[in-house]
Amino acid sequence: MPKTSPASVDLLKDHGIVQISLPTHWPVGPVNVFLVKRDPPILIDTGLHTDESYEILTEGFAEHGITINDLGAIIVTHGHRDHMGLLGQLLRESNADSYGHPQVRTLGHDTDKHPKERKEFFLGIFGEFGVPAETKEEANSLYERFRTFSEPFELSHVLEDGDQALGYTAYHVPGHSPSDTLLVDHEAGLSFVGDHILASTNPNPLLQRPESGQQRPKALVQYQASLARSRELDLGICLPGHGTPFDDHVAVIDRILSRQGRREMLVKKLLKEGRRTPYEISRKLFPDLPIQNIHLGLSIAVGHLEVMEEAGDVKRFYTEGVLHFEPR
Ligand SMILES: [Zn+2]
Repeated sequence: MPKTSPASVDLLKDHGIVQISLPTHWPVGPVNVFLVKRDPPILIDTGLHTDESYEILTEGFAEHGITINDLGAIIVTHGHRDHMGLLGQLLRESNADSYGHPQVRTLGHDTDKHPKERKEFFLGIFGEFGVPAETKEEANSLYERFRTFSEPFELSHVLEDGDQALGYTAYHVPGHSPSDTLLVDHEAGLSFVGDHILASTNPNPLLQRPESGQQRPKALVQYQASLARSRELDLGICLPGHGTPFDDHVAVIDRILSRQGRREMLVKKLLKEGRRTPYEISRKLFPDLPIQNIHLGLSIAVGHLEVMEEAGDVKRFYTEGVLHFEPR
């Protein structure tokens, strides 16, 4: 487990950055949000839309004599609920500007305005990936509960790749989510990396409903390309969405890639035994995963199958509408 080095603690202090840890109730553990004590203050990410998160956040602000109303800007690293869930509420309680990738904005509308389409999409791909009909509803049940963890919002400013805002350079690094953005302060030598690079847990690319008229992104293929790019960037001290800060992002990325490589070997071995659906692969990889969390297992299985397909190692075919893969 990486430790926060004394150097990084000092650096955060020097730049007036306060890390506040908020609960998520998810296997990933607490989420980090960062208060940047400038005039006016900036908040990076928000935590879930729950009373508990809101209370801990406002208490964390109060320790520094800051209120929500004082905020000048809120920037979100990506459109997952643990990072942008409270945004709608915080924007109502302040005059803060809000920044994020354009796809975060779409999600801000999407989460509550299109629950029916969202459900249809996931039940559809669960069926396509081979989830048995009798467990599809249960597999989707957590989503119904997750919906309350965020509420609609508007972004006042969009951050595209290469944009500069508030002293940060934005790098669009899709994969873990389609909206993942690094916020790099080149001058200070530090970066807010969201869930793109995590040292303490696996940043898994998750299946996501595509924007209307677009194809579902091949999340792991995208993620590996993004990692190859960010590996070459000068990120300095990395402040992640989960776990402690680290200063060796190249080593952390190499560990992520080698874990993925080992898992890919496992999938290859499973396919040698015979053709399989993504659901079957996910059950073999994660036999103990509760059905409500099958979305995570499916994301990983489909991710690897698509990476192997891109490399020409496997091919897909459909039997009665269900997707199967076999070695080439
Ligand atoms: Zn997260």
